[in-house]
Amino acid sequence: MNFEVLTLFPRSLEPIFQSSILGRASAKGIISINCTDIRDYTLDKHRRVDDAPYGGGYGMVMMCQPVVDCIRDVKKRLSGTTRVIYMSPQGGLFNQKKAEELSKYDNLILLCGHYEGIDERIIELEIDEELSVGNYVLTGGELPAAIVVDSVSRLIDGVLPSSECYSEESLQNGLLEHPQYTRPRVFEGLSVPEILINGDHAKQKKWKEEQSRLRTEKKRPDLLVNTEINDEQSEEKKQ
Ligand code: SAM
Repeated sequence: MNFEVLTLFPRSLEPIFQSSILGRASAKGIISINCTDIRDYTLDKHRRVDDAPYGGGYGMVMMCQPVVDCIRDVKKRLSGTTRVIYMSPQGGLFNQKKAEELSKYDNLILLCGHYEGIDERIIELEIDEELSVGNYVLTGGELPAAIVVDSVSRLIDGVLPSSECYSEESLQNGLLEHPQYTRPRVFEGLSVPEILINGDHAKQKKWKEEQSRLRTEKKRPDLLVNTEINDEQSEEKKQ
């Protein structure tokens, strides 16, 4: 899987992409992550990439020419399936299901906006999809792009030691994961549940499933509502 991040601040992302699990997966060639500086594509003699908005208003808008040229140039050197995504607070909300969907592409191009965002015509001409990482506004699309790269990478074979690492994880099956414990058995008077130490595997599995359901009810009841609605809808479709 190949990620192409288009940004005005490529150096801000390097520490994230070169560290830990993503760094190791890149070093092994399981994924590749390239950051391209959009400013390298400007034809402006002062290397400007933004200008004041038509119709007035606060801030600056990223211009069509450097962004469109950058997307097209990056696209030219890719083979296989490609999805071009603009990270934007106006996009659909990114979630685990979307991460799974995106993990099926060979290439993801992630465009990071800055300032007041990008000229609308870039979206019309080059963007397949807009994605938001939450209902809040950030100063740039770099952190959102890193979120997409990280969550999609974990689903690629070989990035984690086994697919079990993510298959039982929160949200993967619509529920939150059961509580986790590690040594010591007792910490400041709080003990690890007995079943995790002395129970057999079948009982532990059942306990984990129950805990998963219980904590979803407690912490994220909205997930269960969605699951129930989805269950009902698929039952209706079958009839
Ligand atoms: N003026 C824009 C608007 O009201 O829709 C917001 C621009 S924001 C200050 C600058 C850039 O940050 C955006 O172009 C986008 O790339 C990124 N960004 C901000 N919030 C985001 C979010 N919740 N999800 C994804 N990207 C976001």
